[in-house]
Parts: sequence; C-alpha cells; structure tokens
Amino acid sequence: MRSKVAVSQAGSRHYQGKGIVHSIESCGTVDGPGLRFVLFMQGCLMRCLYCHNRDTWDMHTDKALELSVEEVMKQVLSYRHYLKATGGGVTATGGEPLLQYEFIRNWFKACRTHDIHTCLDTNGYALHYDNILEELLDNTDLVMLDLKQIDPEIHKTLVGIANTKTLNFARYLAERNQAVRVRFVIVPGYTDDERSAHLLGEFIGDMGNIDTVELLPYHELGAHKWALCGDTYKLEGIHPPARETVLGIKEILEGYGKKIIY
Ligand code: SF4
Repeated sequence: MRSKVAVSQAGSRHYQGKGIVHSIESCGTVDGPGLRFVLFMQGCLMRCLYCHNRDTWDMHTDKALELSVEEVMKQVLSYRHYLKATGGGVTATGGEPLLQYEFIRNWFKACRTHDIHTCLDTNGYALHYDNILEELLDNTDLVMLDLKQIDPEIHKTLVGIANTKTLNFARYLAERNQAVRVRFVIVPGYTDDERSAHLLGEFIGDMGNIDTVELLPYHELGAHKWALCGDTYKLEGIHPPARETVLGIKEILEGYGKKIIY
C-alpha cells in the first residue's frame, strides 16, 4: 500500500520551481565520463528487486532537500574547473530524474550556458512527450539509459512494471539520434543468461545513436536500505555474477557492434 501511494504522488507532482533532491555527490566517478557533480533526485515508479537506492522511491520524505536551480548552480560552479579538467560535468540520476523533468531541463539549460557537460541517467520511464522533454534532451550531452530486461515477463518480475515505456523511449532517442550509453545490470537468475544478452543486442543493434553498453554486475551494497525503509529485500542470498558470466555477455553484445564498458 505504501508503494501505491508513493506512485500516485510521484506521478502527479506539479513542478513548483524547486527540485526535490535526495542527495548530492560533488565529485562522483561512476555516473558518466570524468568527475561529475551528481544530483540524486527523489521519486521512482519502478520497483527493481535489486534497487540500491530504495530510499529514493517516495517523492516526499522528511530528509529530502528542496533546491532551486540557482542554489544548485552555485555549488556546480565552485567545482566547474575540476569537472572540466577531467572531461566530466553534471549528472542527474535518482530515483528517476524524468519525474522532475522541468527542473532537470532548467538545470541543464543553466549548465549549458557555462559549457558544462550534462548527463541524464534514466530508466526511460517517460510520462510525457512534450516540449519540456524536447528541451531537456536538446540540453543533454549524454543519456545513460537503463535497459533492464527486454523480455517483458522477466522485466515485470524484476522491475515490477512493464518495459513498454522504456523501450518506446529508447526508440524515440534513436529517432532523435541522441547520444546514448546503455546500462545493463547483470542480475543472476534474471538477466545473466545468453538469451537476455541476445535480446538486448537485437533491440539496440541497429540503433546508431548507441555506441556503448556499460555492464554493471549486480551487487548487494544497497540491501541494508530496504530494511531501513521497512521493506524486505527479496534478493537476499543472490551474489554478484561470476566474471566469466559477465565476459560471456560482453562477447555477445560485442557481436552486435557495440563497444562494452566493463
Ligand atoms: S529504476 Fe533505479 S531507482 Fe528506480 S527502482 Fe530501479 S534501480 Fe531503483
């Protein structure tokens, strides 16, 4: 019941000039190229069994920060030289940043005026295809798109909802020729088999806007947050995939002409 309330809150929230932010990382190293100033946004409509940011699901929590673009830019600009020197920039992640797409659009626009690289880390669950989304993507240098599982049934089991919206968003990005890096989490028993890798390869093979796939082996690091949120972590006992498994998936996806980051 708790989740259903959160979904309706997240899905219907009206933008009031501030972003609802879970946390800030000023010099992140894993959320895009170079060093990155990372905003973790509140709110997500997916329910991934392996979620390591379980505490970002609800849009409103006591601990969330409400920040204007100006307040965020003040911090970004103080790191600007470090970010630029490493080929980095800023990243919006979460949670799911598309749920607050007006704020992210405004933030990325402000970054662009300072020639700062912008990266949108998203699960692709776009609710509205309108001029706000267009402007956001026009001001995005790199989209990091999570494609969690192409098989619809396994996706539902793993993520809690259908993958239709995400796949449509991927097609939309391809039509726009938007630069995209796909992220694929390798979860034992859910996405670590050859068929899943081939389904992904077939789906993105002809998408010329996607040149790189980042393989992310499942890990248990965020499991403790589930208990803190009063929830049960259902992947207890599942361990990270073997290196050989990841290398096998790498080889399959390379066969579809994609560069692999692992
Ligand atoms: S999309 Fe990301 S934040 Fe949302 S449930 Fe999945 S892993 Fe967690």
